[in-house]
Amino acid sequence: MKLMKILDGKKTAQKMKNKLRAELKKLNLKPGLAVVLVGNDPASEIYIRHKEKAAREIGINFFLHKLPQKTTEKKLLEVVKKLNKQNKVHGIIVQLPLPKHINSDKVIETVLPTKDVDGFHPINAGNLAQGNKTFVPATAMGILELLDNYKIEIKGKHCVVVGRSNIVGKPVSLLLLERHATITICHSRTKDLGKITKQADILIAAVGRPNLIKKSMIKPGVVIVDVGINRLSNGKIVGDVEFESCRYTAGAISPVPGGAGPMTIASLMKSCLEAAKKFK
Ligand code: NAD
Repeated sequence: MKLMKILDGKKTAQKMKNKLRAELKKLNLKPGLAVVLVGNDPASEIYIRHKEKAAREIGINFFLHKLPQKTTEKKLLEVVKKLNKQNKVHGIIVQLPLPKHINSDKVIETVLPTKDVDGFHPINAGNLAQGNKTFVPATAMGILELLDNYKIEIKGKHCVVVGRSNIVGKPVSLLLLERHATITICHSRTKDLGKITKQADILIAAVGRPNLIKKSMIKPGVVIVDVGINRLSNGKIVGDVEFESCRYTAGAISPVPGGAGPMTIASLMKSCLEAAKKFK
């Protein structure tokens, strides 16, 4: 059995958070993060609790605005506009998904781009596409932070990204491209997925299908970041990659849980600090 490396997101995220806490103290900054939750989606409530815990640990003020499921779009837009104006709020997150009667695009576009720590506003997404420094979706940023922490070279590597969402697949592809990787993006209509994933030096799986990537679909030595979060009927959380069968073929692999998840939270906190610095 070959030795492979675990890309430990929990440890790496803790290291990042410790650094952020020290930096905030040094700069004497107290960033404010406002999170707006509409309704009571249980997964969203868990994510928000993680964000709150990390914010408090680092020294970021956390303001939760919980609105009922039946909140109108107009009311939600008013709440966002109010937060846009508040000096104590440096970062705004509107937790997705929103109820079906609300147009998410309209809400995202209402968040001030300078407070859009999620990097979902079209202005920030456009800046990312053009290679300008901007707020980047936290999961994409976290993947790069994880690779960098383990000194995994990106330049010149063939990175295969499975998934093309605006919050993970697309932004991580752009970040990797900016770092001089060659990128292939796969999605639900991709033919012969395994043939493509097998070419990857670095494989990012962001799909949401349990154990989609199997040992036969990867090349020996590949570095894998598994972003998927899938709850099985027995309650167990697994990623998009069949961890047990792939772990000895891969050169390095991130686990689920304990990989991309904690890195997302720590990266979001980093964006909050950046937002607060701009207002100083
Ligand atoms: P999404 O549903 O918006 O996008 C999924 C993508 O996968 C789509 O682009 C689709 O084309 C592609 N896809 C679907 N079936 C496929 C198949 N059989 N073969 C190849 N591609 C296929 O999802 P998302 O928001 O990008 O999230 C993806 C996964 O990552 C989910 O499991 C989600 O829970 C997880 N996630 C984790 C974090 C984290 O913090 N760790 C953050 C965001 C998302």
